[in-house]
Amino acid sequence: MLTQRADGLRLLTVHAHPDDESSKGAATLARYAEEGVDVLVATCTGGERGSVLNPALDRPEVLADIARIRREEMAAAREILGVRQRFLGFVDSGMPGPDEPLPEGCFAAQPVEAAAAPLVALIREFRPHVVITYDETGGYPHPDHVMTHRITVEAFEAAADPQRHPEAGEPWQAAKLYYHLALSRAWFQTLHDAMTDRGVPSDMGELLAGWPDTPPALATTTRIACAEKFAVRDAAMLAHATQVAPGVAFMAHPRDIEREVWPTEDYHLARSLVSAAGGAGGAGEVEDDLFVGLRAGVGAGVGAGVGVG
Ligand SMILES: [Zn+2]
Repeated sequence: MLTQRADGLRLLTVHAHPDDESSKGAATLARYAEEGVDVLVATCTGGERGSVLNPALDRPEVLADIARIRREEMAAAREILGVRQRFLGFVDSGMPGPDEPLPEGCFAAQPVEAAAAPLVALIREFRPHVVITYDETGGYPHPDHVMTHRITVEAFEAAADPQRHPEAGEPWQAAKLYYHLALSRAWFQTLHDAMTDRGVPSDMGELLAGWPDTPPALATTTRIACAEKFAVRDAAMLAHATQVAPGVAFMAHPRDIEREVWPTEDYHLARSLVSAAGGAGGAGEVEDDLFVGLRAGVGAGVGAGVGVG
């Protein structure tokens, strides 16, 4: 059971595999956890079909025991970030080739409504004020990431509807749904330019050369200052030892440059039930907090838009 901390703010982030919570939005989680927000990571799959990306660990005995090893890595990352974590119990879909079918029974092959049921139950149990997940592209073309988006959108709605999943607990309406804007082209370009300007070798150029410079589909509505937690983020990522290829582009840049030129993790506010009066200021104003419009109400027991009608 998830014991509730009295009257606190609660943040739920839904990810596809163990390690995604550490590569996308991890410093945000560490910052809010330190502030006293109750932070829960929901991990849809066990990452059973992930490759071993670290050559030092690419050994038959590791591959044979990958499900257990990834659970242990997840437990270590969870401790480093200072958050709680639950697996939703689905089986990793792997990354099928262009003409390959999805493996039978895998997460991405499930019907969306049924696959959302465990997340509906978790939302009703944990009662998050804010939920974060990927946008509809998955942020990265892995079938489990796209499916994670679909079930999270479905569960955000269904958890609040007393007619849906009546066996799965009391309805709960989360107040806001955010999408990650992590690892964007603009982020890579800014870091690449900053390194090049300073005479620091960058290996992001090749990645950028093959990445069309089209405007982002989703506006940045929210920037969370979390540079002080980048070291925690990095430690959590390294705890997923089987998943960290040495020298991979997003791990190799100097952290002092990152703290200077991109000290935030960024989000798109996709849904909000917070009234405009309690929400952000004017249109176009970028928020600096995921809980804008929710802080006054929660401690005072006002409900802050999280009541269910
Ligand atoms: Zn993933």
